[in-house]
Amino acid sequence: MINLILFGPPGSGKGTQAAKLVEKYGLLHISTGDLFRYEIGNKTPLGLEAKSYIDKGALVPDEVTIGMLRNKVEANPDVQGYIFDGFPRTTPQSEALDKLLAEKEDTVSRLVMLSVPDEEIVKRLLLRGETSGRADDKNESVIRNRIQVYKDNTTPVYDYYDAKSKATSIDGIGGIEEIFERLATVIDTL
Ligand code: AMP
Repeated sequence: MINLILFGPPGSGKGTQAAKLVEKYGLLHISTGDLFRYEIGNKTPLGLEAKSYIDKGALVPDEVTIGMLRNKVEANPDVQGYIFDGFPRTTPQSEALDKLLAEKEDTVSRLVMLSVPDEEIVKRLLLRGETSGRADDKNESVIRNRIQVYKDNTTPVYDYYDAKSKATSIDGIGGIEEIFERLATVIDTL
């Protein structure tokens, strides 16, 4: 099994790269952001709760997010591995993921961070907002809040896996293929 955490700030290209990794390595892509948007689209109670946080650029509470992630993993036991995209975003989420995988006698193989500077992120997200249909990509103050939340709550996740010698940072600036090659080089060592 390869269990990869694709890490990085909003707009760092995680979703784009995850789609390419699925093709090459046959892993199951789990994006908590996509799962929330699906729930919102279906107007489920979980979706309605999540929307109030997402619209502000805040994190959905850990219990809600961890429960949803656990359901998705448990519904798909027979896979060659998982790409976690946008999860974990807090230290308690990291601990919950480790526990969930340990129950399957498995573990996180590696966290790979796509490193992209703030100003580039704001530019990319505003551009994406023109076509993505995502309200949280349209408003610059929501975008800046998401970046701040990433710095305050999510960067500790990098340190958490770095302390286990499982974190790698790669340059997230460049062409899609170029960045994919950098990622594949890391994954091929696993
Ligand atoms: P994303 O598509 O990964 O950019 O996520 C969009 C929004 O969904 C985030 O800004 C959060 O509000 C929420 N979200 C996604 N993943 C998580 C998570 N792991 N923990 C808490 N909130 C999340």
